[in-house]
Amino acid sequence: VIELGTPQRSVITTCAYCGVGCSFKAELNGDQLVRMVPYKHGKANRGHSCVKGRFAYGYAQHQDRILNPMIRDSIDEPWREVDWDEALAFAASRLRRIQQDHGRQSIGVITSSRCTNEETYLVQKLTRAVFGNNNTDTCARVCHSPTGYGLGKTYGTSAGTQDFDSVAQTDVVVIIGANPTDGHPVFASRLKHRLRQGAKLIVIDPRRTDIVRSAHVEAAWHLPLTPGTNVAVVTAMAHVIVTEGLYDEAFIRARCDWDEFQHYVEFVSDPRHAPEATQAMTGVPAEDLRAAARLYATGGNGAIYYGLGVTEHSQGSTTVIGIANLAMLTGNIGRPGVGVNPLRGQNNVQGSCDMGSFPHELPGYRHVKLPEVRAIYEQAWGVQIDPEPGLRIPNMLDAAVEGTFRGLYCQGEDILQSDPDTHHVAAGLRAMDCVIVHDLFLNETANYAHVFLPGSSFLEKDGTFTNAERRINRVRRVMAPRNGYEDWEITQMLANAMGGNWSYTHPSQIMDEIAATTPSFANVSYELLEEKGSVQWPCNGAAPEGTPLMHVDGFVAGKGHFMVTEYVATDERSGPRFPLLLTTGRILSHYNVGAQTRRTENTVWHPEDLLEIHPHDAEQRGIKEGDWVRLASRAGETTLRATLTDRVAAGVVYTTFHHPTTQANVVTTDFSDWATNCPEYKVTAVQVSPSNGP
Ligand code: SF4
Repeated sequence: VIELGTPQRSVITTCAYCGVGCSFKAELNGDQLVRMVPYKHGKANRGHSCVKGRFAYGYAQHQDRILNPMIRDSIDEPWREVDWDEALAFAASRLRRIQQDHGRQSIGVITSSRCTNEETYLVQKLTRAVFGNNNTDTCARVCHSPTGYGLGKTYGTSAGTQDFDSVAQTDVVVIIGANPTDGHPVFASRLKHRLRQGAKLIVIDPRRTDIVRSAHVEAAWHLPLTPGTNVAVVTAMAHVIVTEGLYDEAFIRARCDWDEFQHYVEFVSDPRHAPEATQAMTGVPAEDLRAAARLYATGGNGAIYYGLGVTEHSQGSTTVIGIANLAMLTGNIGRPGVGVNPLRGQNNVQGSCDMGSFPHELPGYRHVKLPEVRAIYEQAWGVQIDPEPGLRIPNMLDAAVEGTFRGLYCQGEDILQSDPDTHHVAAGLRAMDCVIVHDLFLNETANYAHVFLPGSSFLEKDGTFTNAERRINRVRRVMAPRNGYEDWEITQMLANAMGGNWSYTHPSQIMDEIAATTPSFANVSYELLEEKGSVQWPCNGAAPEGTPLMHVDGFVAGKGHFMVTEYVATDERSGPRFPLLLTTGRILSHYNVGAQTRRTENTVWHPEDLLEIHPHDAEQRGIKEGDWVRLASRAGETTLRATLTDRVAAGVVYTTFHHPTTQANVVTTDFSDWATNCPEYKVTAVQVSPSNGP
């Protein structure tokens, strides 16, 4: 609880929750934080905030924070508090011994999209320069990795194409697999404002989300698709646009590869992609789909916003490609009010991907196989870089179960709670000889850890976050780290304990190294960020003050690339044993696995996860409002309370995943996106039955 007083000073910093990246003024009385006030000059939020950001200071000051390092020889023993030197020496010697016994590839790193750019850059540098492999991955693996693949293939770079301000010029807002009201509340307010001004709305989502009610009924199309059929719906929209001659030929001739377009036209024109042919499978009435496609193609500036309902599928990358195709088809790219905009769930998903957190890419989305790119870092770091891509998170866990991957440094990520198929994650962690958890709290993953390194909160560090519109915002130290060190310092200490010779004294030096080695950040510095408040990358010689709109004169890839999007049904099928389809999402007052929001005043709202079930399905099962129910799938089962609503269609159920008591991921499967291994969280065949409670 914060004792209110008269603030004597203030520090401008950035919210550490979602990808909107709201700026806050942290007001202090001495060293005591008095309150967090939304900053009126913040370019992403302009003085607004949501209930999450407003109370975020709570978790930073929570009594559950672990402030001293801890070690133990095995996970069956109690933790032993030690000083930093002993903890780091213990961790380093275990990791080194693992590499001596099992080879260079036997250890790796998972980092979090909640970390700053500078921290993330250092973690991938630790992996490549000190561990000597590319086994570095990020929690973006389980959310927006298909965006990286899909937008990279079609446009040449993985980034939202517009800035948030651009929505003021949008005529048709298309939202696919996203619930901005709960997930990105401050941007949702701007969307709703635009809808009140008369913009039209198309929502493609199994659930009738709040924003559907925000538009005039006659101006809003809700296409309630069956979970798992995104590709079929997006391709059917393209079918309508192509076969009715609604595409922008001039744009396509000028900006896209014409041969690829013709091949694409041949593909989508096939009658099997017509809305009438797909409606039985997708659940979307053909006439509604046709009307929505016509509106997007002819209604003026059309902007697409999408979220994890697109990416977290076995065809997540294919859907991203399909969305990119739609924007090129209609010329809705490269000017204000249009574009393709992934709504990033976490504060620094964009940045963690930019910083080379993937096992195949160095910073700036450059493949590790390219010798000219490796040479830049080999010269900067004075090491040889492994040319072979490393392991992704699921590959690390599989290899751990097989016994070939035995050491993990996990920074800011609770993989036991956030990753799919909890039992498999636990088996992988249990099989390792050294698990290092670097976090604020003893999270669920720490149950399997040998070393716990206490982390610093966003109020206790300097750095930068990059939001969903590529805006690089400063994070400023509001108070001294309660654990003694900022997170980048801890990574540096671990690197040096393992033989590195790093000597950064401030994150601005890390940003200078990023700028010197990453073309899209070439002009970024803390001095520029102080002067401008924030900048959007690319920020370099060609765009010294940043780039609000991308692909204006040409795509980063040169020509835009149309790609065919063949629908392949997920292997996860409903049937007599598991007749319902479960999909998941967030709620306004909580954030991801709730490790932070459950330790703030937000916890008074929505203190538990609920299962939304259609009244018809509930009645068939004898379930009433508030009853305990058993939610079971082929992977596992859990217990939670039911709430009856027609927001979901009959045959579909929905829950959030903010509370460890629910462990929603016990029921999710290990199916994943074909291109990136992003887990298929959004469709699981389940049965729901009455229960007496947990
Ligand atoms: Fe802004 Fe997102 Fe933080 Fe809410 S959670 S204050 S919308 S950045």
